[in-house]
Amino acid sequence: MPDIYRFGKSHTDGDASMRELLGGKGANLTEMCRIGMPVPPGFILPTTLCAITAEPGFKKRLEGAIDEGLRFIEAETKKKFADKQDPLLIAVRSGARVSMPGMMDTVLNLGIDLEIADAWSQRVGRLAFDAYRRNLHMIGDVVLGICADDDDPFERALTELKRQRGVATDTKLSTEDLRALALRYEAIIVERRSDRWPLPPYEALVDSAAAVFSSWNAPRARSYRRLHRIPEHWGTACNVQAMVFGDRNEESGSGVCFTRDPATGEPVVYGEYLRNAQGEDVVAGTRTPYPIDDLRSEAPALHRELLDACRTLEIHFRDLQDIEFTIDDGKLYILQTRRGKRSAIAAVKIACDLVREGRIRTDEALMRVEPAEVEKLLLPALAEEDAERAVRDGRALLAGLAASPGAGVGRIAFSSKRAVEWAQQGPVLLVRAETSADDIEGMHASSGIVTRTGGSTSHAAVVARGMGRPAVVGCDDFALRPKDGTLQVGERLFREGDVWTIDGTRGRVFEGELPLRPSGLAGDLERLLEWADEVAVLAVRANADTPGDARQARRFGALGIGLCRTEHMFFKAERIVAMREMILAEDRPAREKALAKLLPMQREDFRGLFEAMAGLPVTIRLLDPPLHEFLPHGEQAEIELARELGVEPRVVHDSVERTREQNPMLGHRGCRLAISYPEIARMQARAIAEAYLDAKRAGHGVLLVVMVPLVATRAELEVLAELVRAEMDDVATSRGEGRIPCHIGSMIELPRAALQAGALAEVASFFSFGTNDLTQTTFGLSRDDAAGFISDYLAQGVLEHDPFRQLDEEGVGELIRLAIKRGRSTRPDLVCGLCGEHGGDKASIAIFHKMGGDYVSCSPFRVPGARLAVAQAALGLPESQRRSTRAPKSVSRS
Ligand code: PEP
Ligand code: MG
Repeated sequence: MPDIYRFGKSHTDGDASMRELLGGKGANLTEMCRIGMPVPPGFILPTTLCAITAEPGFKKRLEGAIDEGLRFIEAETKKKFADKQDPLLIAVRSGARVSMPGMMDTVLNLGIDLEIADAWSQRVGRLAFDAYRRNLHMIGDVVLGICADDDDPFERALTELKRQRGVATDTKLSTEDLRALALRYEAIIVERRSDRWPLPPYEALVDSAAAVFSSWNAPRARSYRRLHRIPEHWGTACNVQAMVFGDRNEESGSGVCFTRDPATGEPVVYGEYLRNAQGEDVVAGTRTPYPIDDLRSEAPALHRELLDACRTLEIHFRDLQDIEFTIDDGKLYILQTRRGKRSAIAAVKIACDLVREGRIRTDEALMRVEPAEVEKLLLPALAEEDAERAVRDGRALLAGLAASPGAGVGRIAFSSKRAVEWAQQGPVLLVRAETSADDIEGMHASSGIVTRTGGSTSHAAVVARGMGRPAVVGCDDFALRPKDGTLQVGERLFREGDVWTIDGTRGRVFEGELPLRPSGLAGDLERLLEWADEVAVLAVRANADTPGDARQARRFGALGIGLCRTEHMFFKAERIVAMREMILAEDRPAREKALAKLLPMQREDFRGLFEAMAGLPVTIRLLDPPLHEFLPHGEQAEIELARELGVEPRVVHDSVERTREQNPMLGHRGCRLAISYPEIARMQARAIAEAYLDAKRAGHGVLLVVMVPLVATRAELEVLAELVRAEMDDVATSRGEGRIPCHIGSMIELPRAALQAGALAEVASFFSFGTNDLTQTTFGLSRDDAAGFISDYLAQGVLEHDPFRQLDEEGVGELIRLAIKRGRSTRPDLVCGLCGEHGGDKASIAIFHKMGGDYVSCSPFRVPGARLAVAQAALGLPESQRRSTRAPKSVSRS
């Protein structure tokens, strides 16, 4: 396999399909050359080299590749590397398979030293020293490791010089100033890394390429990969390319633009540029750039050329593009194009618009939106009238760019470290002058981001949009003093920890807490989900325990309830007393007396659920948790309960002690409770049956489904199925009704149940995989305690995913596969569902789809995302391997 892939006017080696080898940036550079875009020539060192950086022969291979590549660029540009009169300068940039903005390193303006700069400046003036000082800064940082997170001596020297000259931006520094600055930078390097000075241009180039490969393993890149589930072994490619200069003169500039608005999805080219600046000045957010539209009047021909390029690229790549460009002395160059990151709202709108414009098919549109993004659309927003009222009340503090939509409330934190700490206690908003790659964890921990500088393509804006955090950037009007923990807006002084509300949809920041409201399904999202339903094979049901949740789930498109955790109904204040009375009962008659109080409450709940889900399956699970969970904890709480029940505190205390278990999760819970206390299950069966008949009479008939939790043996299931049937028959007979149609099935939460699936299916008409418990019991890993150490497993790569979030395909998945196979060999039409947390996770849904499941069930807010994920699972397999859509089954679908 070659070590270089060239791209230029005369020759191009790769194309857009070669992302694995060339990285996303590199693959698209080669593709752009193929379609004749104005791209500076260059070459790509592929990801295969990243994998061998530690091997002895690496340096030699790297040099060999660079030598060959340099010859190519020299021929294309007709310039020579390190030439004195008209030097070829080189940029070295990282580029992984998927974009990891700002996470890895870049070194620009390579191929220069003081002697070259002096000679070159005779022709180009200040550009020569501007390039040289930028080059020294990046080498000092990336290659020589001189800068620390909170200490950048180069930046300090620049700030000091600007202060001395009384100028706000570096464009105001003269040629002599920049030369002096470059000399100061040389001195900084000599002070700190005299072992590496002087560093000849060629060595600097080779070392920079090696540093770009190493930056794949920088801590921030690792943490980004963890958050975005990017595999460690992918590696980065390294793009080596001829420099063009946006900082050459006033007819030059750099910019970033999107072919559509990435925050709203509106089909207008959207972006910013800075005159007389290199690209990183725009992205860094240190100078606030101008909207692209300003170019229209300043340089109409260039503006038209840029819009044409945007159109060509969007049509060619058939998706929103995020484009970096440079204008060098009036000539436009495209430096990069990639799939643009977009807000959740924009993702949905753009997918639907592209279908309407005839550019993509509906099945492609379905693959363009991340299911987890859909959830964000349903997240809280600030209602128009609440925002207006707050403005009238004088609570509007700042206005800036609406960089990432949605709203958030929280305590303001001025550093990422503080944001991460405080987020443990409650929501925080990260407020910074600007953000950088080091803020990634802080941004993730925050409910919103506010910055003083930066435009809509600044780091803060791009990352916030990617993470789905609301953001308002470029709010110039505040003075931030992180060291004192204060922030000033006009006359008003705020302290770190004060509460603000941000509205990223409108670009507003308010003082105090404003009410946020949940958003719903509408317009394009509804359309997209209808397309999803057309191709889906798995049905999506909801885990809902209250009529309110059930109604919400139905509005979100759930096809029934896949799990009603009946215990949740007992935790309400007025019910917990009767529940505790039942648990404290000395004998069966006393227990039945307490249960009789619970019966009408349960019946009422079920009636509400049936009404909300009329016509659809409703799966009710018998009581599951250990009884100890319902009892008070602590002496004071025990005394209070004793008073409420009119018994001695000792009675309560003894009962608490009696129900205490060493391992409650493996103890007296699930169907085991009903084996010991059948009267509990009988009460529940009666309440279900009575509610069913009442609801049916009121025109709210449902498909009744009852499931038994934590089953290990066929006998357990048999005992409980008989008990439930008998009780339901009793209700029906006493009301003069015929037999109540009810499907009785088993949860599969224990390895034994999975292994014995063939026997269980003789009794169960369906299985519901409780993958929370099944993961716990398969791994022998407590679901309540694992969070404390699973992060170590993930950080060290011992586990690739948290198995409680993403189904473990190899282990837990194997048990599920086996259970489905054995179950269906006994009962071919056995319906199989999944109702653990994995039911709302895209990757887990795809796994369950492959195994031949019938439905997944997840919390109401995850239902829309799951509808999309089941469609993607159906579309994800090649046509020949897709399961044909089954005719809706009585239990699985309405
Ligand atoms: C499960 O174990 O996956 C399940 C759905 O039940 P619970 O989370 O209530 O234990
Ligand atoms: Mg469970």
